[in-house]
Amino acid sequence: MRQSPNSKRNRMIRTKQVSTETGSLGDASSIKLTPRTANKRETIALPTTLTADSFLSLTPQIHTFPKTLSQINKKRKMSSPTAPLTGHCACKTLTYTLTTQPLITHCCHCQYCQLETGSAFALNTLIENYNFTITSPTRPLYAHRPSPSAPDGSAHVIAHCPNRDCNVDVFSFYGGNRGTVFVKVGTLDEGSRERVRPDVHIFTRSKVEWVDLGREVERGVKVFEGFYDREDLWSRESLERLEKLRAWKEGGKGEGGDV
Ligand SMILES: [Zn+2]
Ligand SMILES: [Zn+2]
Repeated sequence: MRQSPNSKRNRMIRTKQVSTETGSLGDASSIKLTPRTANKRETIALPTTLTADSFLSLTPQIHTFPKTLSQINKKRKMSSPTAPLTGHCACKTLTYTLTTQPLITHCCHCQYCQLETGSAFALNTLIENYNFTITSPTRPLYAHRPSPSAPDGSAHVIAHCPNRDCNVDVFSFYGGNRGTVFVKVGTLDEGSRERVRPDVHIFTRSKVEWVDLGREVERGVKVFEGFYDREDLWSRESLERLEKLRAWKEGGKGEGGDV
């Protein structure tokens, strides 16, 4: 029995042919040319040989991006303000929890942080060692990098995932001081990450020119060309916790720590 040009069988065949021609872009062609939607008018001309230009010309048809940042933010789920902050490395082998709220969150624009992160600044939230818990059976590996913030030559100790296909840095200790954990904010879980904002911008003398801190100043965030005096900036509660932390370290626990 003869079939019309737009019969279901013919449309299936045409879809299959196009998928084969596009090779690695088979997904794209299947999106545009499913048997249900394909007909003569909707068929798009796909190149038989993919060049960089032809790939780029296809890209807008493959992906749909949310239009604005506010649309993205609406989709994000923020965890309860009182829930513990949690996080993980990229492969999720290494997971952790902050059992109380951070002491303070630094956005550091120093050249060392730029080098170490490969970015414009580092975002670290600080917590006492005893309020930070690794929740995975896997423990981190520690890299000892030269630290410009420790003139005595002690290293910046960075904890990273032991999975060599991940290796993401998750937290660190500055100057060998194991009392205070500097948690890398980008490794927090999505619901937690949204809750942590910089309390202070430091070492802005080396800030990249295109980072504009005007909005931060408007919301009352302090900006320092170098470092700052804790007594002037930290909340009363955080200063009280700092006293407790000093006592803990003087008790001989700051050098090793639990993490
Ligand atoms: Zn990992
Ligand atoms: Zn820094």
